[in-house]
Amino acid sequence: MPLLAKQLRPPSPLRPIFTKRLLPQLQHLHLAPPFLLDDYTPRYTLLSSTSTSRKRSQAYAHLRNCNLCPRLCGVNRYERTGVCLIGAEMAKVNTIAPHFGEEPCIQGHGGSGSVFFSGCNLRCVFCQNHDIAHQRNGFDVTPEELAEWYVKLQDVGGVHNINLVTPEHVVPQVVLSILAAKELGLKVPIVYNTSAFDSLESLELLDGLVDIYLPDFKVWKAATSKSLLKADNYASVAMESIKKMHEQVGDLCFTADGIAKKGVLLRHLVMPGKEDEGGEIMRWLGENVSKDLFVNIMEQYHPDAHIGKPSRSARVSSSSEPSEGASVMEPEGEPSSTSSARYSKINRPVTDQEVSSVRRAAEEAGLWRFVDPPQHEGFNI
Ligand code: SF4
Repeated sequence: MPLLAKQLRPPSPLRPIFTKRLLPQLQHLHLAPPFLLDDYTPRYTLLSSTSTSRKRSQAYAHLRNCNLCPRLCGVNRYERTGVCLIGAEMAKVNTIAPHFGEEPCIQGHGGSGSVFFSGCNLRCVFCQNHDIAHQRNGFDVTPEELAEWYVKLQDVGGVHNINLVTPEHVVPQVVLSILAAKELGLKVPIVYNTSAFDSLESLELLDGLVDIYLPDFKVWKAATSKSLLKADNYASVAMESIKKMHEQVGDLCFTADGIAKKGVLLRHLVMPGKEDEGGEIMRWLGENVSKDLFVNIMEQYHPDAHIGKPSRSARVSSSSEPSEGASVMEPEGEPSSTSSARYSKINRPVTDQEVSSVRRAAEEAGLWRFVDPPQHEGFNI
């Protein structure tokens, strides 16, 4: 039976019903002012020629004395590599493709144009992309080749954005690639998808080029980050860098199609037995960044990389089994374990209670913009 014309009519536009009296009740609308943009022009397209030249020369200078991430290696990457093991002239990339595994407001219906960089400046023992991040599987590309890929993703792939995944250790190459892509006609927003283990110098170099920051905030305690990420200063670095990202682009904003165009979307992967640290992170975000911060509390942790593998002592005393991840360099050693399985405490998925505990802490901290499954059958924003 044909639908009545009345049923087919689109809902009335939201704007006319916004009065001061109604605003408090509408706080639960993500796609409402002040988070709704009429239109959006990516920041890099607005850079002056002077700023473009300055960014280019700063990028080269950083490569000659690399303190671009908190590892502070101070190496000339044209001659040798630092902890990230990636040189100066090329970045290493594993996959370039439209990607549909991101948040609905990032991937939309056309996908997010993802570039998965190989290598990483962290050594997370539970890394969910171990072969790419630690074993550096991939192929070399110049910044100019990267720029061509971005434009191909935009023009042929029809993606909503260019999503730079794990780019912290190749920021100069990324900067040069965005500047080159601008000349080739790139027009979609740039997403910087990071562990938040970034230096302030690096974020300054990216200012004006990135539209959406997608940082993780992984763990809170120094002892945890030392053991699980091999970086005891992770939380203090993440705090500074997330504040700086928010200063640059603010809270997450959308155009009327529900696609995010600018701002910060923060991710926290709930870890087994670490829900208290998740709660601390949510409290800190609510108090120090913004109560309007868009947050994705993720529950998909699964044991990977080194988790649950036989401990070193067990391996030595058993057969001549080759050592797992032989090409992986760990800046600091693993703490001794009495179990025969490595990192046995996080060798399980998270429970519903752990996820709910972090969510409750977030709500108590005043955060309210979450990536939730849709409450309707339509598009999730
Ligand atoms: S980006 Fe690489 S070389 Fe530069 S400081 Fe970080 S780990 Fe060291």
